[in-house]
Amino acid sequence: MSNTEIQVRIDPIPDEDDRNVTRRSKKSRSKHSKNRLSKIPSQICKVLRKGSRSEDTEPVSCAYKLAGCSFTDVASKVNSHERECSFSKIKTKDFHNILQDRLKEENTRVKLLENVYPYLSYNDAEFTDLYLTKDEDQDEDAPFVFTSQTFDSLKMSWRVIVQIEDVPDEAENANVSRKHGTFFLYQSGSSAFYNGRNPSHNKIVFLLTDSECTSHNPEPKAFHHEFSQTHKESKHITLPMAQAVVDDLSERHAFQMRVWLFKK
Ligand SMILES: [Zn+2]
Repeated sequence: MSNTEIQVRIDPIPDEDDRNVTRRSKKSRSKHSKNRLSKIPSQICKVLRKGSRSEDTEPVSCAYKLAGCSFTDVASKVNSHERECSFSKIKTKDFHNILQDRLKEENTRVKLLENVYPYLSYNDAEFTDLYLTKDEDQDEDAPFVFTSQTFDSLKMSWRVIVQIEDVPDEAENANVSRKHGTFFLYQSGSSAFYNGRNPSHNKIVFLLTDSECTSHNPEPKAFHHEFSQTHKESKHITLPMAQAVVDDLSERHAFQMRVWLFKK
């Protein structure tokens, strides 16, 4: 999608003027609004369709692709398909929701790219999909600890640890607590690593994202740490995820994440 598409916003059509509403029956009013609103998705789809269609043999997409239609064919076929396309009959509200979801996905992708982009010039970049499992035998009051398996990345060994604990919720009164999640990156087996051939410090940039099969929607944010024999553990970073997701993860026995590592 291009930037112009990302910035599209659908503002709700203002309702009938109050004075008119009082004179109309509720039924006729809702029928009237619906007829008017039902035209919106097709108009937006056509605006979003890039450029004009040439009558050559290049396959083009249906104008309702954004709403979920996957039909593609030559322009003349697509033009007649669009008159019958089931996605053209989608309700404005549903279409609005679909668009919002798409825009959210797209914004996350763009933000991820923006955050990863500065590090693409680094010599090494790797990602690993992690399965973090809850440490089950711990004190009741201790924070929940989820640890990943040890994994190799950038020719070093690592683990990711996520901790979720109850903290007082400042916004509420002192008796109310909320789940607070943090994570850190731990360099394991490092004593063998820092030898004469390797630098004694490694400035690493890391980033948590969803793996292919998760949707925790972490904020795409990168963090730095200079790992060395005496600084094997990064600082503890607040999980860049919504409170509801942190609450959900704390109830689980395991979850998946993807971690990106970058090194100059
Ligand atoms: Zn279609």
